[in-house]
Amino acid sequence: MVKAIHQDPETSLVGVVVHGAAGRVGQEVVRAVCQDPATRLVGAVDIKVSGTALVLPDGGTVPFSTDLQSILKSCQPDVMVDFTTAKASMPAVRIAARLGVNLVIGTTGFSAPELEEMQKLAEANEIGIIAAPNFALGAVLMMHLAKIAGKFMDHAEIIELHHDRKLDAPSGTSLLTAKAMAEARGKPFLPPAAGEPTPSRGQDVSGIEIHSIRLPGLMAHQEVIFGAAGQTLSIRHDTINRECYMPGVMLSVKAVVKQKGFIYGLDKLLGL
Ligand code: NAP
Repeated sequence: MVKAIHQDPETSLVGVVVHGAAGRVGQEVVRAVCQDPATRLVGAVDIKVSGTALVLPDGGTVPFSTDLQSILKSCQPDVMVDFTTAKASMPAVRIAARLGVNLVIGTTGFSAPELEEMQKLAEANEIGIIAAPNFALGAVLMMHLAKIAGKFMDHAEIIELHHDRKLDAPSGTSLLTAKAMAEARGKPFLPPAAGEPTPSRGQDVSGIEIHSIRLPGLMAHQEVIFGAAGQTLSIRHDTINRECYMPGVMLSVKAVVKQKGFIYGLDKLLGL
């Protein structure tokens, strides 16, 4: 196993490789890493790469390749940030972990066994891995508030709305929200008074029906609706552009070099 050199000793900057650098979120991560005075982009990887260098906003370049292993070995990053697909991400996570590179994973759609494997990889390779289905601070706060409300209201449903190029449904955020709400409440939510489950009633997670909408024109939105006699309560989060993920991603990039082990969800980093 080749251990990455952690943080450039001369500059103390956190060196970052972005996996999925040509993607919609990956491009935002490249910009955010370049703009932050505490981080430095050292390399980039994507499945579609033209040339051998990625041109940065300031006109500089970093190595850009489809070959993750060679980029990690030659660029020696402290952290790899991954925004690709669940299928592409898992092999990449294994490669990075074995090379001793810390990980910030934003890709969604992982199975429970895959998340367990991440935990084992973090422990076995003595690295930090932070994976979060939602890096938007407002979404994390929405989940936190929904956990509080769920203790007092017995019925809840979730509508999650995303752009039509999102691959997974229901969204990782909606699944995490429903599970966290049921866990905080200590018991499942109550079903409607009447009616049998049908496909149009959504996917049941701990007594919460999740409804997934996929349409062009949307970005990422989620509404948690609570119902009780004579009243409803809605907690809603809307994203306007992908910049919304960057404060959470950059917070994680700086935190992951300081701690070993696996963290799932940005709420843990925020102390919620
Ligand atoms: P995207 O635009 O499709 O970007 C993914 C990038 O990864 C694309 O450039 C894609 O190339 C590339 N890729 C695919 N397979 C690859 C492989 N085997 N090796 C290297 N690169 C590969 O998608 P996105 O909207 O940026 O979203 C990426 C992921 O982040 C999704 O899972 C999404 O659900 C998730 N996401 C998470 C958050 C969060 O807060 N955690 C927020 C937004 C999105 P091609 O286009 O050629 O396939």
